[in-house]
Amino acid sequence: MRIVVEKFGGSILQYSEDYRRVAKVISETLSEGYSVVAVVSAMKGVTDSLIRMSRVENCFEEELKSLAEKHRSVLAGVAKSPYFERAYIEISRLLDKLSKTLWAIRVIGEVTPRVRDYILSFGEQFSAIILWATLLSEGISAEWFTGGKAGIVTDNSFGEAHPIYDESRKRVRNVIPKTLSEGKVAIVTGFIAESIEGHVTTLGRGGSDYSATLLASFLDAEEVRFYTDVEGILTANPKIIPEAKTIEKLSFEEIIELSYIGAKKFHPRTFESLKGRSIPAKILSIYSPHGKCTIVHGKCGSGEREVKAVMTINGLALVNVKGTTMVGRIGTAAEVMHVAKETSVNISAISQPVSETVISVIVKASDADVFSKRLTEKLKSKKIIENVEVVKPLTAVVTVGCGLREPEVSEKILKIASKYPLYMVSKGLDSVSITFLTNPDSAYLLAREVHDKVILHG
Ligand code: ASP
Ligand code: MG
Repeated sequence: MRIVVEKFGGSILQYSEDYRRVAKVISETLSEGYSVVAVVSAMKGVTDSLIRMSRVENCFEEELKSLAEKHRSVLAGVAKSPYFERAYIEISRLLDKLSKTLWAIRVIGEVTPRVRDYILSFGEQFSAIILWATLLSEGISAEWFTGGKAGIVTDNSFGEAHPIYDESRKRVRNVIPKTLSEGKVAIVTGFIAESIEGHVTTLGRGGSDYSATLLASFLDAEEVRFYTDVEGILTANPKIIPEAKTIEKLSFEEIIELSYIGAKKFHPRTFESLKGRSIPAKILSIYSPHGKCTIVHGKCGSGEREVKAVMTINGLALVNVKGTTMVGRIGTAAEVMHVAKETSVNISAISQPVSETVISVIVKASDADVFSKRLTEKLKSKKIIENVEVVKPLTAVVTVGCGLREPEVSEKILKIASKYPLYMVSKGLDSVSITFLTNPDSAYLLAREVHDKVILHG
Protein backbone atom coordinates (compact mmCIF):
# COMPACT_ATOMS: atom_id res chain seq x y z
CA MET A 1 0.00 0.00 0.00
CA ARG A 2 1.35 3.44 -0.93
CA ILE A 3 0.33 5.85 1.79
CA VAL A 4 0.46 9.63 1.83
CA VAL A 5 -0.34 11.56 5.01
CA GLU A 6 -1.88 14.94 4.24
CA LYS A 7 -2.19 17.51 7.02
CA PHE A 8 -4.60 20.42 6.79
CA GLY A 9 -3.94 23.21 9.26
CA GLY A 10 -6.39 25.50 11.01
CA SER A 11 -5.21 28.55 9.09
CA ILE A 12 -6.78 27.12 5.90
CA LEU A 13 -9.99 25.84 7.50
CA GLN A 14 -12.58 28.51 8.03
CA TYR A 15 -15.42 28.32 5.50
CA SER A 16 -17.32 25.60 3.62
CA GLU A 17 -15.28 26.24 0.50
CA ASP A 18 -12.13 25.47 2.49
CA TYR A 19 -13.35 21.94 3.24
CA ARG A 20 -14.31 21.51 -0.39
CA ARG A 21 -10.82 22.61 -1.40
CA VAL A 22 -9.38 19.99 0.97
CA ALA A 23 -11.66 17.32 -0.55
CA LYS A 24 -10.40 18.25 -4.00
CA VAL A 25 -6.77 17.89 -2.93
CA ILE A 26 -7.50 14.51 -1.35
CA SER A 27 -9.33 13.27 -4.41
CA GLU A 28 -6.34 14.22 -6.59
CA THR A 29 -3.99 12.33 -4.31
CA LEU A 30 -6.28 9.30 -4.49
CA SER A 31 -6.24 9.53 -8.26
CA GLU A 32 -2.43 9.42 -8.13
CA GLY A 33 -2.93 5.92 -6.72
CA TYR A 34 -2.21 6.67 -3.08
CA SER A 35 -4.11 5.76 0.05
CA VAL A 36 -4.69 8.90 2.07
CA VAL A 37 -4.53 9.58 5.78
CA ALA A 38 -5.92 13.10 6.28
CA VAL A 39 -4.91 14.82 9.50
CA VAL A 40 -7.05 17.82 10.37
CA SER A 41 -6.69 20.70 12.77
CA ALA A 42 -9.53 22.56 14.39
CA MET A 43 -10.98 25.40 12.32
CA LYS A 44 -9.18 28.73 12.51
CA GLY A 45 -9.42 30.30 15.96
CA VAL A 46 -11.36 27.40 17.49
CA THR A 47 -8.63 26.12 19.82
CA ASP A 48 -8.09 29.66 21.12
CA SER A 49 -11.81 29.96 21.67
CA LEU A 50 -11.91 26.65 23.59
CA ILE A 51 -9.01 27.84 25.74
CA ARG A 52 -10.94 31.01 26.61
CA MET A 53 -14.04 29.00 27.45
CA SER A 54 -12.04 26.63 29.64
CA ARG A 55 -11.11 29.46 32.01
CA VAL A 56 -13.59 29.30 34.87
CA GLU A 57 -13.54 33.08 35.33
CA ASN A 58 -14.81 33.65 31.76
CA CYS A 59 -18.41 33.60 30.60
CA PHE A 60 -18.76 31.04 27.85
CA GLU A 61 -22.40 30.85 26.74
CA GLU A 62 -22.22 33.40 23.92
CA GLU A 63 -18.94 32.03 22.67
CA LEU A 64 -20.22 28.46 22.72
CA LYS A 65 -23.30 29.54 20.82
CA SER A 66 -21.28 31.15 18.07
CA LEU A 67 -18.94 28.16 17.95
CA ALA A 68 -21.94 25.89 17.42
CA GLU A 69 -23.39 28.15 14.73
CA LYS A 70 -20.11 28.40 12.91
CA HIS A 71 -19.65 24.63 12.68
CA ARG A 72 -23.26 23.98 11.75
CA SER A 73 -23.23 26.56 9.01
CA VAL A 74 -19.95 25.31 7.54
CA LEU A 75 -21.39 21.80 7.63
CA ALA A 76 -24.56 22.94 5.89
CA GLY A 77 -22.41 24.39 3.12
CA VAL A 78 -20.58 21.14 2.40
CA ALA A 79 -22.76 18.17 3.27
CA LYS A 80 -25.62 16.53 1.42
CA SER A 81 -28.30 14.27 2.84
CA PRO A 82 -27.95 11.78 4.56
CA TYR A 83 -24.39 12.76 5.55
CA PHE A 84 -25.53 16.21 6.64
CA GLU A 85 -27.98 14.72 9.14
CA ARG A 86 -25.48 12.18 10.42
CA ALA A 87 -22.75 14.76 10.89
CA TYR A 88 -25.22 17.24 12.40
CA ILE A 89 -26.29 14.73 15.02
CA GLU A 90 -22.69 13.85 15.79
CA ILE A 91 -21.66 17.49 16.15
CA SER A 92 -24.70 18.23 18.33
CA ARG A 93 -23.86 15.29 20.56
CA LEU A 94 -20.32 16.61 21.00
CA LEU A 95 -21.59 20.15 21.63
CA ASP A 96 -23.80 18.80 24.36
CA LYS A 97 -20.84 17.08 26.03
CA LEU A 98 -18.77 20.24 25.70
CA SER A 99 -21.50 22.39 27.20
CA LYS A 100 -21.97 20.04 30.15
CA THR A 101 -18.24 20.03 30.83
CA LEU A 102 -18.08 23.82 30.69
CA TRP A 103 -20.94 24.05 33.18
CA ALA A 104 -19.38 21.41 35.42
CA ILE A 105 -16.08 23.26 35.75
CA ARG A 106 -18.00 26.42 36.71
CA VAL A 107 -19.87 24.51 39.40
CA ILE A 108 -16.66 23.05 40.77
CA GLY A 109 -14.78 26.30 40.21
CA GLU A 110 -11.68 24.55 38.92
CA VAL A 111 -10.29 23.09 35.73
CA THR A 112 -7.63 20.39 35.92
CA PRO A 113 -5.11 19.84 33.10
CA ARG A 114 -6.90 16.62 32.19
CA VAL A 115 -10.27 18.33 31.87
CA ARG A 116 -8.68 21.16 29.91
CA ASP A 117 -7.32 18.68 27.36
CA TYR A 118 -10.74 17.10 27.14
CA ILE A 119 -12.25 20.52 26.38
CA LEU A 120 -9.57 21.33 23.80
CA SER A 121 -10.19 18.04 21.99
CA PHE A 122 -13.55 19.16 20.58
CA GLY A 123 -12.19 21.54 17.93
CA GLU A 124 -10.40 18.83 15.97
CA GLN A 125 -13.36 16.47 16.30
CA PHE A 126 -15.81 18.99 14.82
CA SER A 127 -13.38 19.60 11.99
CA ALA A 128 -12.90 15.88 11.28
CA ILE A 129 -16.66 15.33 11.16
CA ILE A 130 -17.10 18.20 8.72
CA LEU A 131 -14.37 16.81 6.48
CA TRP A 132 -15.91 13.36 6.72
CA ALA A 133 -19.29 14.70 5.61
CA THR A 134 -17.64 16.70 2.81
CA LEU A 135 -15.82 13.68 1.43
CA LEU A 136 -18.87 11.43 1.56
CA SER A 137 -21.01 14.09 -0.08
CA GLU A 138 -18.45 14.23 -2.90
CA GLY A 139 -18.58 10.46 -3.30
CA ILE A 140 -15.30 9.67 -1.53
CA SER A 141 -15.56 7.00 1.15
CA ALA A 142 -14.00 7.90 4.44
CA GLU A 143 -13.93 7.11 8.11
CA TRP A 144 -12.88 9.45 10.92
CA PHE A 145 -10.94 8.73 14.08
CA THR A 146 -9.82 10.69 17.08
CA GLY A 147 -6.04 10.54 17.53
CA GLY A 148 -6.58 8.08 20.37
CA LYS A 149 -8.90 5.84 18.34
CA ALA A 150 -6.39 5.91 15.51
CA GLY A 151 -3.92 4.45 17.98
CA ILE A 152 -1.77 7.34 19.22
CA VAL A 153 -1.13 6.78 22.91
CA THR A 154 0.77 9.11 25.21
CA ASP A 155 1.89 9.49 28.79
CA ASN A 156 -0.15 11.52 31.26
CA SER A 157 1.52 14.91 30.71
CA PHE A 158 -1.75 16.65 29.88
CA GLY A 159 -1.28 19.76 27.75
CA GLU A 160 2.02 18.55 26.30
CA ALA A 161 1.73 14.77 26.26
CA HIS A 162 4.56 12.57 24.98
CA PRO A 163 3.63 9.79 22.57
CA ILE A 164 4.66 6.28 23.54
CA TYR A 165 6.19 5.27 20.25
CA ASP A 166 6.23 1.47 20.31
CA GLU A 167 2.73 1.06 21.67
CA SER A 168 1.37 3.73 19.30
CA ARG A 169 3.02 2.12 16.29
CA LYS A 170 1.44 -1.21 17.17
CA ARG A 171 -2.01 0.29 17.67
CA VAL A 172 -1.93 2.56 14.60
CA ARG A 173 -0.89 -0.36 12.42
CA ASN A 174 -3.81 -2.37 13.75
CA VAL A 175 -6.36 0.29 12.90
CA ILE A 176 -5.52 2.51 9.95
CA PRO A 177 -4.34 0.05 7.24
CA LYS A 178 -7.64 -1.80 7.54
CA THR A 179 -9.61 1.35 6.73
CA LEU A 180 -7.27 2.21 3.87
CA SER A 181 -7.48 -1.27 2.41
CA GLU A 182 -11.27 -0.88 2.26
CA GLY A 183 -10.60 2.01 -0.11
CA LYS A 184 -11.49 4.66 2.46
CA VAL A 185 -9.71 7.84 3.41
CA ALA A 186 -8.71 7.72 7.08
CA ILE A 187 -9.42 11.12 8.63
CA VAL A 188 -7.59 11.55 11.92
CA THR A 189 -7.92 14.45 14.31
CA GLY A 190 -4.54 16.09 14.80
CA PHE A 191 -3.34 17.39 18.17
CA ILE A 192 -5.29 14.95 20.32
CA ALA A 193 -4.37 11.50 21.55
CA GLU A 194 -5.15 9.24 24.48
CA SER A 195 -3.32 8.10 27.59
CA ILE A 196 -2.90 4.38 28.29
CA GLU A 197 -5.86 4.71 30.70
CA GLY A 198 -7.96 6.11 27.86
CA HIS A 199 -8.10 9.77 28.88
CA VAL A 200 -7.90 12.40 26.15
CA THR A 201 -4.52 14.11 25.96
CA THR A 202 -3.15 16.85 23.69
CA LEU A 203 0.31 17.11 22.15
CA GLY A 204 0.76 20.86 22.74
CA ARG A 205 -0.14 23.83 20.57
CA GLY A 206 0.36 23.17 16.87
CA GLY A 207 0.32 19.46 17.67
CA SER A 208 -1.48 18.41 14.47
CA ASP A 209 1.82 18.68 12.64
CA TYR A 210 3.30 16.22 15.09
CA SER A 211 0.30 13.86 14.72
CA ALA A 212 0.86 13.83 10.96
CA THR A 213 4.54 12.87 11.11
CA LEU A 214 3.89 10.29 13.81
CA LEU A 215 1.26 8.60 11.65
CA ALA A 216 3.52 8.77 8.61
CA SER A 217 6.35 7.15 10.47
CA PHE A 218 4.19 4.43 12.05
CA LEU A 219 2.59 3.61 8.70
CA ASP A 220 5.80 3.82 6.62
CA ALA A 221 4.14 6.43 4.44
CA GLU A 222 5.76 7.52 1.21
CA GLU A 223 5.36 11.18 2.01
CA VAL A 224 3.81 13.72 4.38
CA ARG A 225 2.24 16.82 2.87
CA PHE A 226 1.60 19.89 4.97
CA TYR A 227 -0.97 22.13 3.35
CA THR A 228 -0.89 25.71 4.48
CA ASP A 229 -1.47 29.23 3.13
CA VAL A 230 2.09 29.90 1.92
CA GLU A 231 4.06 28.31 -0.91
CA GLY A 232 6.47 26.42 1.30
CA ILE A 233 9.16 27.94 3.47
CA LEU A 234 10.64 31.18 2.22
CA THR A 235 14.23 32.38 2.43
CA ALA A 236 13.07 35.41 4.46
CA ASN A 237 9.95 37.30 5.44
CA PRO A 238 8.77 38.87 2.14
CA LYS A 239 7.30 41.82 4.03
CA ILE A 240 10.82 42.76 5.07
CA ILE A 241 12.79 41.36 2.16
CA PRO A 242 10.68 41.40 -1.04
CA GLU A 243 13.25 39.27 -2.92
CA ALA A 244 12.48 36.32 -0.61
CA LYS A 245 11.71 33.11 -2.48
CA THR A 246 10.59 29.57 -1.76
CA ILE A 247 13.35 27.25 -0.52
CA GLU A 248 13.25 24.12 -2.66
CA LYS A 249 14.95 21.71 -0.31
CA LEU A 250 15.68 21.61 3.38
CA SER A 251 17.37 18.94 5.47
CA PHE A 252 15.74 17.79 8.70
CA GLU A 253 18.39 19.64 10.72
CA GLU A 254 17.48 22.87 8.92
CA ILE A 255 13.71 22.54 9.25
CA ILE A 256 14.09 21.80 12.96
CA GLU A 257 15.91 25.13 13.40
CA LEU A 258 13.28 26.91 11.26
CA SER A 259 10.22 25.26 12.80
CA TYR A 260 9.62 27.91 15.36
CA ILE A 261 10.58 31.08 13.56
CA GLY A 262 9.31 31.00 9.97
CA ALA A 263 5.96 32.21 8.65
CA LYS A 264 4.74 28.63 8.83
CA LYS A 265 5.32 27.45 12.38
CA PHE A 266 5.55 23.79 13.25
CA HIS A 267 5.18 21.98 16.52
CA PRO A 268 8.79 21.69 17.80
CA ARG A 269 8.77 17.88 17.75
CA THR A 270 7.24 17.56 14.28
CA PHE A 271 10.28 16.32 12.41
CA GLU A 272 11.73 14.17 15.16
CA SER A 273 10.17 10.94 13.96
CA LEU A 274 11.08 11.50 10.30
CA LYS A 275 14.75 12.22 10.96
CA GLY A 276 16.79 9.26 9.78
CA ARG A 277 13.84 7.84 7.83
CA SER A 278 13.33 8.05 4.10
CA ILE A 279 9.96 9.78 4.36
CA PRO A 280 10.09 13.22 2.79
CA ALA A 281 7.82 16.05 3.95
CA LYS A 282 6.41 18.62 1.57
CA ILE A 283 5.15 22.03 2.61
CA LEU A 284 2.76 23.45 0.07
CA SER A 285 -0.01 25.95 -0.40
CA ILE A 286 -3.58 24.66 -0.56
CA TYR A 287 -4.36 27.54 -2.94
CA SER A 288 -1.72 26.42 -5.44
CA PRO A 289 -0.96 22.76 -4.75
CA HIS A 290 0.92 22.48 -8.03
CA GLY A 291 2.88 25.65 -7.41
CA LYS A 292 6.12 26.09 -5.54
CA CYS A 293 6.78 24.01 -2.46
CA THR A 294 9.52 23.06 -0.04
CA ILE A 295 10.68 19.46 0.26
CA VAL A 296 12.20 18.39 3.54
CA HIS A 297 14.39 15.37 3.15
CA GLY A 298 17.69 13.91 4.30
CA LYS A 299 20.51 15.22 6.40
CA CYS A 300 23.07 18.00 6.03
CA GLY A 301 25.60 16.75 3.50
CA SER A 302 29.29 17.02 4.24
CA GLY A 303 30.86 20.02 2.57
CA GLU A 304 27.47 21.61 1.95
CA ARG A 305 27.87 25.38 1.72
CA GLU A 306 24.38 26.72 1.38
CA VAL A 307 22.70 29.10 3.81
CA LYS A 308 18.97 28.78 3.27
CA ALA A 309 17.13 31.40 5.29
CA VAL A 310 17.37 34.49 7.40
CA MET A 311 14.56 35.39 9.76
CA THR A 312 14.05 38.20 12.23
CA ILE A 313 12.23 38.10 15.54
CA ASN A 314 11.17 41.45 16.95
CA GLY A 315 10.15 42.62 20.38
CA LEU A 316 12.95 41.11 22.45
CA ALA A 317 14.94 42.46 25.38
CA LEU A 318 18.29 41.71 26.94
CA VAL A 319 18.35 41.32 30.70
CA ASN A 320 21.91 41.47 32.04
CA VAL A 321 22.41 40.13 35.54
CA LYS A 322 25.75 41.45 36.74
CA GLY A 323 28.18 41.28 39.61
CA THR A 324 31.54 39.95 40.75
CA THR A 325 29.52 38.40 43.58
CA MET A 326 28.37 35.77 41.09
CA VAL A 327 31.86 34.61 40.15
CA GLY A 328 32.51 31.00 41.14
CA ARG A 329 29.27 30.85 43.12
CA ILE A 330 27.43 27.61 42.42
CA GLY A 331 23.70 27.96 41.80
CA THR A 332 23.53 31.58 40.60
CA ALA A 333 22.45 30.70 37.08
CA ALA A 334 19.92 28.24 38.51
CA GLU A 335 18.44 31.01 40.68
CA VAL A 336 18.16 33.38 37.72
CA MET A 337 16.36 30.66 35.74
CA HIS A 338 14.17 29.90 38.70
CA VAL A 339 12.99 33.53 38.80
CA ALA A 340 12.15 33.23 35.09
CA LYS A 341 10.10 30.12 35.78
CA GLU A 342 8.37 31.70 38.77
CA THR A 343 7.35 34.76 36.75
CA SER A 344 6.32 32.60 33.73
CA VAL A 345 8.88 34.27 31.52
CA ASN A 346 10.10 32.29 28.54
CA ILE A 347 13.82 32.56 27.86
CA SER A 348 14.68 32.98 24.18
CA ALA A 349 18.48 32.88 24.53
CA ILE A 350 21.13 32.84 27.28
CA SER A 351 24.86 33.45 27.55
CA GLN A 352 27.57 33.85 30.16
CA PRO A 353 31.30 34.45 29.72
CA VAL A 354 33.85 32.19 31.40
CA SER A 355 34.69 35.06 33.77
CA GLU A 356 31.15 34.50 35.16
CA THR A 357 30.66 38.23 35.78
CA VAL A 358 27.42 38.56 33.83
CA ILE A 359 24.52 36.34 32.83
CA SER A 360 22.69 37.64 29.76
CA VAL A 361 19.17 36.50 29.18
CA ILE A 362 16.99 37.33 26.19
CA VAL A 363 13.27 37.50 26.88
CA LYS A 364 10.24 39.10 25.26
CA ALA A 365 10.41 42.89 25.65
CA SER A 366 7.00 42.81 27.34
CA ASP A 367 8.34 40.41 30.01
CA ALA A 368 11.58 42.26 30.70
CA ASP A 369 10.41 44.64 33.43
CA VAL A 370 8.58 42.03 35.52
CA PHE A 371 11.55 39.71 35.20
CA SER A 372 14.19 42.29 36.11
CA LYS A 373 12.14 43.63 39.02
CA ARG A 374 11.74 40.19 40.48
CA LEU A 375 15.44 39.41 39.94
CA THR A 376 16.35 42.57 41.82
CA GLU A 377 13.94 41.81 44.67
CA LYS A 378 15.03 38.24 45.09
CA LEU A 379 18.73 38.18 44.28
CA LYS A 380 20.07 41.66 44.92
CA SER A 381 18.81 41.76 48.48
CA LYS A 382 20.63 38.48 49.16
CA LYS A 383 23.78 40.00 47.63
CA ILE A 384 23.92 37.23 45.06
CA ILE A 385 23.99 39.80 42.28
CA GLU A 386 24.94 43.47 42.12
CA ASN A 387 22.81 44.84 39.36
CA VAL A 388 20.21 44.08 36.71
CA GLU A 389 20.19 46.00 33.45
CA VAL A 390 17.57 45.90 30.69
CA VAL A 391 18.26 46.76 27.03
CA LYS A 392 15.25 46.94 24.72
CA PRO A 393 13.85 46.66 22.15
CA LEU A 394 16.11 44.19 20.39
CA THR A 395 15.64 41.99 17.35
CA ALA A 396 17.08 38.56 16.71
CA VAL A 397 18.45 37.79 13.27
CA VAL A 398 18.53 34.05 12.74
CA THR A 399 20.47 32.55 9.85
CA VAL A 400 19.85 28.89 9.01
CA GLY A 401 21.67 26.48 6.74
CA CYS A 402 23.87 23.39 6.76
CA GLY A 403 26.54 25.60 5.18
CA LEU A 404 27.05 27.41 8.49
CA ARG A 405 29.03 24.40 9.65
CA GLU A 406 31.70 25.29 7.07
CA PRO A 407 34.24 27.77 8.50
CA GLU A 408 34.43 29.93 5.36
CA VAL A 409 30.66 30.31 5.25
CA SER A 410 30.22 31.17 8.91
CA GLU A 411 33.20 33.52 8.64
CA LYS A 412 31.46 35.38 5.83
CA ILE A 413 28.31 35.78 7.93
CA LEU A 414 30.24 36.77 11.05
CA LYS A 415 32.13 39.36 9.07
CA ILE A 416 28.88 40.94 7.88
CA ALA A 417 27.41 40.81 11.38
CA SER A 418 30.48 42.40 12.95
CA LYS A 419 29.55 45.72 11.32
CA TYR A 420 26.50 45.96 13.55
CA PRO A 421 26.17 46.32 17.32
CA LEU A 422 25.78 42.77 18.65
CA TYR A 423 24.36 41.98 22.07
CA MET A 424 24.60 38.23 21.81
CA VAL A 425 25.62 35.57 19.32
CA SER A 426 24.51 31.94 19.63
CA LYS A 427 24.56 28.74 17.66
CA GLY A 428 21.67 26.34 17.15
CA LEU A 429 21.40 22.56 17.24
CA ASP A 430 24.02 20.77 15.11
CA SER A 431 25.48 24.22 14.29
CA VAL A 432 23.01 24.76 11.47
CA SER A 433 21.90 28.17 12.74
CA ILE A 434 23.55 31.30 14.08
CA THR A 435 21.51 33.96 15.88
CA PHE A 436 22.56 37.57 16.33
CA LEU A 437 20.88 39.99 18.70
CA THR A 438 20.97 43.56 17.65
CA ASN A 439 18.80 46.68 17.62
CA PRO A 440 15.78 46.69 15.28
CA ASP A 441 17.28 49.04 12.65
CA SER A 442 20.52 47.11 12.43
CA ALA A 443 18.60 43.83 12.31
CA TYR A 444 16.82 44.92 9.18
CA LEU A 445 20.07 45.93 7.48
CA LEU A 446 21.90 42.83 8.64
CA ALA A 447 19.13 40.50 7.45
CA ARG A 448 19.04 42.21 4.05
CA GLU A 449 22.76 42.01 3.66
CA VAL A 450 22.91 38.31 4.58
CA HIS A 451 20.01 37.57 2.27
CA ASP A 452 21.58 39.35 -0.65
CA LYS A 453 25.25 38.40 -0.23
CA VAL A 454 25.02 34.91 1.20
CA ILE A 455 21.60 33.40 0.50
CA LEU A 456 20.87 34.66 -3.00
CA HIS A 457 24.43 35.16 -4.25
CA GLY A 458 26.45 33.03 -1.84
N1 ASP B 1 -5.70 23.15 17.03
C1 ASP B 1 -4.44 23.06 17.72
C2 ASP B 1 -3.84 24.43 17.91
O1 ASP B 1 -4.41 25.41 17.47
C3 ASP B 1 -3.50 22.12 17.04
C4 ASP B 1 -3.09 22.49 15.65
O2 ASP B 1 -3.78 23.24 14.97
O3 ASP B 1 -2.06 22.01 15.21
O4 ASP B 1 -2.82 24.55 18.52
MG1 MG C 1 -0.05 24.93 13.14
